[in-house]
Amino acid sequence: MLVYNSQSHRKQELEPIEPGKIRMYVCGPTVYDQIHIGNARTFLSFDVIRRYLMFKGYEVTFAQNLTDVDDKIINRANEQGRTASEVAEEFSDKFIEQMHRFGILDPDIRPRATREIEAMQQMIVSLIEQGNAYAVPSGDVYFSVRSDHAYGVLSGRDLDQLRAGERVEVNDEKRDPFDFALWKAAKPGEPSWPSPWGEGRPGWHTECCAMIHRYLGTPIDIHGGGADLIFPHHENETAQAMCAWHAPLANVWMHTGMLQLNNDKMSKSQGNFYTLKEVLDNYSANAVRILMLQTHYRAPLDFSFDRLDGAVSTLERLTSCVKNLRWAAEAAPADGNLTDEDRALGAAIDSAHGEFVASMDDDFNTAGGLAAIFGLVTASNKYLSDAAGSIETAVTLRAADALMELCGVLGIDLSKEVAGSELPAELVTLAAERASYAGTDPEEAAEALLEARQAARAAKDWGTADAIRDGIAALGLVVEDTAAGARLRRTKD
Ligand code: AMP
Ligand code: ZN
Repeated sequence: MLVYNSQSHRKQELEPIEPGKIRMYVCGPTVYDQIHIGNARTFLSFDVIRRYLMFKGYEVTFAQNLTDVDDKIINRANEQGRTASEVAEEFSDKFIEQMHRFGILDPDIRPRATREIEAMQQMIVSLIEQGNAYAVPSGDVYFSVRSDHAYGVLSGRDLDQLRAGERVEVNDEKRDPFDFALWKAAKPGEPSWPSPWGEGRPGWHTECCAMIHRYLGTPIDIHGGGADLIFPHHENETAQAMCAWHAPLANVWMHTGMLQLNNDKMSKSQGNFYTLKEVLDNYSANAVRILMLQTHYRAPLDFSFDRLDGAVSTLERLTSCVKNLRWAAEAAPADGNLTDEDRALGAAIDSAHGEFVASMDDDFNTAGGLAAIFGLVTASNKYLSDAAGSIETAVTLRAADALMELCGVLGIDLSKEVAGSELPAELVTLAAERASYAGTDPEEAAEALLEARQAARAAKDWGTADAIRDGIAALGLVVEDTAAGARLRRTKD
């Protein structure tokens, strides 16, 4: 399968370091607030990448950090009169909670910066010993970008051009303006740890590198994050790894495009954001996933609530198709003779599978994967209408299962959405009315409903027919479709 490597700027064959295994790392959030849906897009993209690699049979080890010490956390804590660790703990928990709501699989390893101080200090010591880092009188330790001849390779930047073009923090103690802090001397009231350079805390770029080395070993197969992390964060990570351990940090670097609102990158600092929580409070995780996966992970994604409403309808098309397939299969009499329609549906299942895999094998083209799924939805709906009256159970169930399975690979979990259809209110009333004037015998009521169901089936209104069957079930009866027609049976017979 082909994967786009941001470092080589091209798609390349995925060649795991250890056959059959993938070790991957995705930079996690800085936990000072609820994450926004831009952050969520990046985490979702890598969730789908991970799920697809697992679907392909790889044993995937996935690590993601929590940056739980940082200026933003300290500032938030000061604003609120709390400790930095209280703020970090609250938003670590909230981040994990929202990831679960969004259906994102837990990482196998979730290291936290504040618990990895020793590993980071070891790395810094080694960088100083090898001449790639230096401590200054204030107690900061800097990485010397000039000591690394490969600096700039990942992001394709040249230090001299950078110097002319970009603004950097001015600091007299740095030997080069692009030198970055591996260790920051503590300011009064900040969280800090003892170190050979005095009390202080790690720099942001240091944690991922030390964690990857400790938990996964370098190089790893895939390192990911949003495209805004390529420079300086990932450039700095890879520079540290190369200098400390003389091996690249990762074989493949993968970066997601930015989620935008009115053509602007969604970001906390610009104030143009929606939190994942507020979106999931109002929309199902599956609908948000469909919206996001309609765009390739590397392309910018324009978010709007209109598009999200569109994704809700798309999801409804999918779930009603699965429900109708299941219901039709359940209602179908056993037969065994395959018709042309049955064979066509069988072929559509196979080609949906093939198209799904071909798309996803091409650098995780989820839009193509969804198109394959919806191709099968169209074929299934056509089958349900063409073959009404001669539905073949096995192929119909296989179509429903294929839709569930392919959606599952994208993390779209349809199991809840298709479990038990919602009974329209008027049918509940009707069933209750019938049951009440039928006295203690609900069978008469059910008979009346059975007629309504037959009429719905004849009109190919599978949704209503399905709902009526549930109404009958609510009366303690099940419908059995036999060669001689539909009949009722008590549930507890
Ligand atoms: P942060 O907590 O700012 O480090 O962000 C966590 C992750 O979200 C990083 O991988 C960022 O690259 C990513 N990210 C931030 N903003 C966006 C956005 N608008 N669209 C997609 N990913 C983003
Ligand atoms: Zn990182």
